[in-house]
Order: sequence, then structure tokens, then C-alpha cells
Amino acid sequence: MSKQHRYCQICKKDSMHVELIPAAIIRPAVSDYIATQYPEWSNEGYICRKDLKQFRYRYLYSLIEEERGAVTNLEEEVISKMNEYESLSENVDKEFNMNLTFGQKLSDKIATFGGSWRFIIIFGVIIFVWMLVNSYFLLTRPFDPYPFILLNLVLSCLAALQAPIIMMSQNRQEARDRKRAENDYKINLKSELEIRQLHQKIDHLLTQQWERMVQIQELQIEMIEKISEKKT
Ligand SMILES: [Zn+2]
Repeated sequence: MSKQHRYCQICKKDSMHVELIPAAIIRPAVSDYIATQYPEWSNEGYICRKDLKQFRYRYLYSLIEEERGAVTNLEEEVISKMNEYESLSENVDKEFNMNLTFGQKLSDKIATFGGSWRFIIIFGVIIFVWMLVNSYFLLTRPFDPYPFILLNLVLSCLAALQAPIIMMSQNRQEARDRKRAENDYKINLKSELEIRQLHQKIDHLLTQQWERMVQIQELQIEMIEKISEKKT
């Protein structure tokens, strides 16, 4: 095929308009996939970069569909990022913390403080002092005499407030974990697919190299035979 007549087998554009890639260097897995879509596909021809990208995407898509039954949004994102050679890893914590409102940050802080030894000790001291003051120093005119009903009320109010705050904080923790797990899954899937692609590429390279070596060897044998013929 002369240089002037190279054209993309899919969109029929020639090498003047698009960048062409020889079909022979495409991985067999992708090449076979194109053949199932385009029966007239030939390994001798060419394909433009844009169409190849499109087919790579569709090949990956079909691969996942075949293995997992359906392609979710997550998986679709992985495939498109892979096709664009973009990185997937993101700092989930950083992104998550950036979008928190003031109330959410406050509830996180309160939940952290409420779950610390410092809080327990401070609170224990307050309760102790309260009881002491009401049972001894102010025995004549205690503001909350035994059995400390006002203290009881304060404690119940505190518990009632603390529970939803802790729950809010926990829900957010859970959402963050879910996001993290999602991100891990995406990265794992991408690595799995990339490694598989690399395997195919290396296999393809090895086969091609092997074929060339055999060709060179055949040439060498021919040359040796010619030389020996000349001698005799
Ligand atoms: Zn094309």
C-alpha cells in the first residue's frame, strides 16, 4: 500500500487529515473486537487515533459487561479515565473536609471532645462539686437539695443533646468510609484492567518479535546456503 493511499478503515479519512496507526500493531484482543463490529476490518490496513480510542473504550466496556453483567457509573468513570490516560486517585479526606459546613465541623469537635477522658474527668469533677456544695456547704440553703433533681435534669438534657450530635458525626464518618471504599474499588479496577492490557501488549510484542526473528533466521539460512553453493 503506497503512502498516498493510506486511510482509516473505519471513517475512511486519509493520512492527510488524521493520524493513522497500522492495524498490525494493535493488540489482538482489541483488533478482534473491532473485527466483530466491522466485518471488513483487515490487519493490513490502518485506523485513526480517534477511532482506535473509541474502540478501546468500547472494548473495555464490553469486557466489564461480560464479567460483571452490567456496567455501573463507577465502572464507567474508570473506563473513561483509563481511556484518557487520566489519574484516578484522589484524596477523599481532603475533599470531604473541604465541603463541611460550620455546624458539621462543630458537631465533629463536640463528638470528639465528648468521647475523651478529658470530658469524663471534667464532668466527674463538676458532678462531684455540685453534690458536695448542695449536701455540705449550702446545707442551710441548698439550691439543689438531695436527691439533686436539678442535676438530674441537666444530665438528661446533656445526654439528649449529645446523642444526636454523636450520631451526626457517625453518619458523616460512615459516608466518608463509603467514599473511601468507592475510591479504592475504582483504583483497584483500573489497575486490574491496566495490568491486563499491559499483559496483552507484552504478549503481542513477544509474538511479533518472535515472528521477526524467525524471518531473520530464514534469511540467514538462505544466505548460508547461497554461500555454500558458491563454494562448491
Ligand atoms: Zn477513523
